[in-house]
Amino acid sequence: ATTVVSGTGLARDLRAEVTSAAADLTAAGTPPQLAVVVATADESTAWYVRSIRGAATKTGIRCSVVDLGPDAPPSRIGATLSALSADPEVHGIMLQTPLPDGAHFADLAASISPEKDVDGANPVSLGRLGAGLTAFAPATAAAVLALLDHYEVPLAGRHAVVVGRSTVVGKPAAQLLLRRDATVTVCHRHTSDLAEHTARADVLVVAVGRTGLITAEHVRPGAMVIDVGTNPTDDGGLAGDVDAAAVSGLAGGLTPVPGGVGPVTTALLLRHTVESAARRSP
Ligand code: NAD
Repeated sequence: ATTVVSGTGLARDLRAEVTSAAADLTAAGTPPQLAVVVATADESTAWYVRSIRGAATKTGIRCSVVDLGPDAPPSRIGATLSALSADPEVHGIMLQTPLPDGAHFADLAASISPEKDVDGANPVSLGRLGAGLTAFAPATAAAVLALLDHYEVPLAGRHAVVVGRSTVVGKPAAQLLLRRDATVTVCHRHTSDLAEHTARADVLVVAVGRTGLITAEHVRPGAMVIDVGTNPTDDGGLAGDVDAAAVSGLAGGLTPVPGGVGPVTTALLLRHTVESAARRSP
């Protein structure tokens, strides 16, 4: 049988830890604060920001949303990120996508102080991660590893295949798996014969954004499958990249969408924020 690798229990545990850490920090005079910078009218971004704000508030973290509007010039976005980086009352900073035309995510994220870069967006954070130095990993990639650890999936010496090589998910997930001594293969849109690679995976991480991309032929019997994809469905719900019905009974474990990687991602953003605040706390 395929284990349902749910993220909701882990997310609940993480939020409980964060709540207690946030209360201690607040009592010590350092109320943790997360700032989210938005420059889009995109509906799904608005939904995501509301869910971050709701989770932050519930755990005792102040969340300020700085909405610059969809026509914000890149210089204004950069200046906002620099000002938040210099603000001693702000401990975590996130820049949402999509961005206005002409604005480049990595260029702008370079203005987020690495100490406050709770979603690992600054190229410096990514470089440090690759060099084996301390840095905040992008929360989604960190959530993949947190789920694997929570379900006690061994990684050292195992073959992990990551499908997708984006800077926010695929590449940092591959780096984190390498740091844990997995043998890592990274597949992407130019990979010929995807199934040939994925069918060798002990651990399969899929971060593409295409419903039903991964079917039975892609999955080795017993493999642990982490589905990062979030694709809107016609009925207003969400579907992953993995055809859950097709791999059910074949995979050893599979994350549901929603309820897998997503809630852990949000909880880790909050945990990164209290970690950053704790370093500032006297
Ligand atoms: P992206 O579009 O930046 O990257 C997609 C990657 O998939 C690319 O590297 C591309 O080469 C690869 N790809 C495309 N078609 C492919 C194919 N046919 N075969 C193999 N590889 C292919 O996307 P992203 O930002 O990395 O996000 C990926 C998915 O994860 C999306 O569905 C996104 O919504 C979701 N996501 C979820 C969370 C979460 O917290 N659950 C967070 C971030 C992103």
